[in-house]
Amino acid sequence: MVRSASPTLPRIRVLATGGTIAGAETKGARGYKAAAFSVDALIAAVPQVGELARLDVEQVAAIGSQDMDEATWRKLAARTSAALADADLAGVVITHGTDTMEETAFFLNLVVRSEKPVVLVGAMRPATAISADGPMNLFNAVAVAAHAEAHGRGVLVVANDEIHFAREIAKTNTTQVGTFRATARGLAGLVNAGRIHFYSAPVRKHTAQSEFSLDGGSALPRVDIIYAHVGTGRELIDAAVKAGARGLVIAGVGDGNLGATALAAAAEAAKSGVAVVRSSRTGGGVVERNIEIDDDRHGFIVADELNPQKARVLLMLGLTRTRDARELQEMFFTY
Ligand code: GLU
Repeated sequence: MVRSASPTLPRIRVLATGGTIAGAETKGARGYKAAAFSVDALIAAVPQVGELARLDVEQVAAIGSQDMDEATWRKLAARTSAALADADLAGVVITHGTDTMEETAFFLNLVVRSEKPVVLVGAMRPATAISADGPMNLFNAVAVAAHAEAHGRGVLVVANDEIHFAREIAKTNTTQVGTFRATARGLAGLVNAGRIHFYSAPVRKHTAQSEFSLDGGSALPRVDIIYAHVGTGRELIDAAVKAGARGLVIAGVGDGNLGATALAAAAEAAKSGVAVVRSSRTGGGVVERNIEIDDDRHGFIVADELNPQKARVLLMLGLTRTRDARELQEMFFTY
């Protein structure tokens, strides 16, 4: 549906999936239900977007992003790629819950082969809340997707007047509107009431240069995350392997460390052909090879700067191409 009179404005497709940006309060100003509103209602709340772009809208899902799954990821990737293949379309905006936004953004960053802008946007406050953040976030996201300089930067996330790279963004706070942080490489830029300032380019390969594809159609391999702590046992590692995990991501302590008992189980898993990636539960920093753990001897892979949930996304896609630990390691230094 075209919502602007001006045929000279860029065309942007909005793919809606739900989340708080479409959420409504249920008990006064406390509880709420994600995905209560359609994308049409969201856009109606920001009529000013008609000055930025001509919008087509499509409701892909209506879920809280804690229910995001592989089938919806595939549908979203397919709908995004189809939209971007349309020469007349400038970019895509995806409305999404904030809980798993970073995983979906990074997934799309690895499987959508296009230089055109793909911008995810969400909100921390429901659409019916006092000072809802969704309308301005949506306005800013459309402005970014319609901007020529957004090309070639990979999948972006817009929230709280900031433009984030998919690889760098993490949700770091349960409730605050400034929840998203770029934990390592910094922001892509800033967006102030639709006025855009880009400051940096992505440091790693993405989208158009990515080697990953969903064309084969078979299910992504199972990858589980094991959270380390004082006294981590081996039981959950053994259970994951028994459940058919082809990969494990360790949310290790500090520099991706594991105590001796769990380390022995992880080493056995790696020896049996399960890809074991060491990430960190700290929320920032690099996990390097062979510091306190002999990765060469155990056949482990390190996550570099990826947090556990993003390391899982890359490992699932990596395992569709190889089971070789050295090749998988190279992917973690490439994406
Ligand atoms: N749990 C919901 C979701 O991720 C609401 C959180 C949000 O969107 O901010 O969709």
